[in-house]
Amino acid sequence: MASNARLDHRNPLVFDTHELGRRPGALQRLTRTIDAPADLGIQGVIGVPEGAPVELELRLESVLEGVLVTGTARAQAEGECVRCLEPVELELEADFQELFSYPDADDRGRVIAEPGDDAEDDEDRFFLEDGLFDLEPLLRDAVVLALPMQPVCQEGCPGLCSECGARLADDPDHHHDAVDIRWAALQGLAGSMTDGEKDEMSGAEAGVDEKQEK
Ligand SMILES: [Zn+2]
Ligand SMILES: [Zn+2]
Repeated sequence: MASNARLDHRNPLVFDTHELGRRPGALQRLTRTIDAPADLGIQGVIGVPEGAPVELELRLESVLEGVLVTGTARAQAEGECVRCLEPVELELEADFQELFSYPDADDRGRVIAEPGDDAEDDEDRFFLEDGLFDLEPLLRDAVVLALPMQPVCQEGCPGLCSECGARLADDPDHHHDAVDIRWAALQGLAGSMTDGEKDEMSGAEAGVDEKQEK
């Protein structure tokens, strides 16, 4: 993995393997609670709010080529139901495992690939830097994998009424009387006008947001 910036041991997601040593078979377990970094999760869907506690449980095992890191992250994730837009909270438990190779492992273990050859393979590899490793990319991948792509507030959430937008889970008997066909045409017209107004409003809001960001 190409990483130009040197790892900072003060970064809470950077771990030190010096204590573990390089004797294969050596084990170290540790726990650490960190503040969630920004954008931890599936953007715009569900994730761990920035600064929320993330409990990390790690098991470091010294192996011939490096340090095998196995662990679990636990945190509270927040998002909204894809069907009814109600807030959704869930206990996240994300498992991960990765080998962090010694930078010199290639010299002994295997032939170094030609630059450009198998570049993808190489990008997927992680290396120790001065005995330190950065858990962040692992944590991010594991959290995304552990979260639902389409979170729901409850299994089988019936969503919103397509006619009036009411949350059907709150009102299981909700229904609209079938209307006379002549009225239906008029109601359809009214419905599309309301939609148009909504679109205009949200468009204006988006415009303001964009200006503020610039
Ligand atoms: Zn729902
Ligand atoms: Zn309705």
